[in-house]
Amino acid sequence: MIDLFPYNTLQVHAQAKNFIELNSPDQLLPTDEPLLFLGGGANILFTKDFPGTVAKINFSGIKVIKEIDSDVLVEAAAGQNWHDLVMWSVNHNLSGLENMALIPGTVGAAVVGNIAAYGQNQGDVVNSVRVLDLSTNKAVNLSHQDCRFFYRDSAFKHEFKDKLLIISVTYRLSKKAHFDTAYHSRYESLEKILTQFATPPYTIQQVANAVIKIRTVKMPDWTKIGTAGSFFKNPFVSRQRLIELQSQIKELQFYPTEKMLYPHPDDPIFKRTDQVKIPTGRLLDELGWLGKKIGNVSTFEKHALVIVNLGGATGAEIYEYSSLMRADIKKNFDIDLEYEVHII
Ligand SMILES: Cc1cc2nc3c(=O)[nH]c(=O)nc-3n(C[C@H](O)[C@H](O)[C@H](O)COP(=O)(O)OP(=O)(O)OC[C@H]3O[C@@H](n4cnc5c(N)ncnc54)[C@H](O)[C@@H]3O)c2cc1C
Repeated sequence: MIDLFPYNTLQVHAQAKNFIELNSPDQLLPTDEPLLFLGGGANILFTKDFPGTVAKINFSGIKVIKEIDSDVLVEAAAGQNWHDLVMWSVNHNLSGLENMALIPGTVGAAVVGNIAAYGQNQGDVVNSVRVLDLSTNKAVNLSHQDCRFFYRDSAFKHEFKDKLLIISVTYRLSKKAHFDTAYHSRYESLEKILTQFATPPYTIQQVANAVIKIRTVKMPDWTKIGTAGSFFKNPFVSRQRLIELQSQIKELQFYPTEKMLYPHPDDPIFKRTDQVKIPTGRLLDELGWLGKKIGNVSTFEKHALVIVNLGGATGAEIYEYSSLMRADIKKNFDIDLEYEVHII
């Protein structure tokens, strides 16, 4: 038995029956009990002990594969720290990852959750993913399309779940900065910070610096306080329902699906043409969840969507807190929130 406390950013105690550190994708994996891959543990909540092997992905590294016109293919190992990869790309003047600076975790998990920030998504820049098929023990390459990147979603959360180990990810990054003000002006806070210390056209470094500045103020420091970032996804509602909600909630913002920056044509989002995305944080705010404390669990004082462990909360207590939030949203707004965090 090993305590997973040091391996999850929500800082909960849970026991794993077995624990291994994978320093190479060639290392043998157990086949006779449940297996859970773990990167930085920044998107997972352990509500109970794990009755099998937790395999922590440690193998890391970044290498340039080749240049194609103004693009560069860069391969990063699954256990590579995500923020370090972003800063590597920024320091090499390669664009595509800079808006996703300071997101905790590893490269492999970034693909699983199709992480995103300020309009940039993992799915925009992934070229291919190398995986180990656990049923054959053979490594194969998956194309971008095989990954089915949707809004905070991918095939790794569905048909590939527990069947494939992500070994490495190849990104297609651009030698040209793609900062276009019309596109980024949708993210007013980013634009505002940038204008404080830079003038357009902004460099990749300036954008990354602005993102780091905002995130340092707006998000809790996960190295000090237990958190997994946003707990739920943002929901979709019909335009009719939006009008009703706007009469209840002052200044409720929304985002039309045709403007969504998740460009997979099969994404169910694009089939909901009459629907808009609304911010869960604002709904929770309206119901008084900002900073609400129950036992040792609370929401972050600046963001009601971010649950924090004030110290000593169990996984079950955090789950119970999140269930109360979900029930409150259902009761008041008839919306079923979907978890962004992987619940064990
Ligand atoms: C303060 C804070 C801010 C955050 N901000 C953002 C944000 O802006 N945008 C965003 O999208 N997310 C954000 N997150 C969420 C989190 O950082 C991401 O989901 C990140 O990708 C998690 O990486 P990880 O390595 O810690 O994943 P883990 O929690 O270790 O794993 C997540 C899932 O991926 C699976 N997995 C991990 N590695 C592999 C592998 N090699 N092969 C197969 N499966 C694997 C695990 O089994 C698990 O199901 C934030 C989190 C925190 C704490």
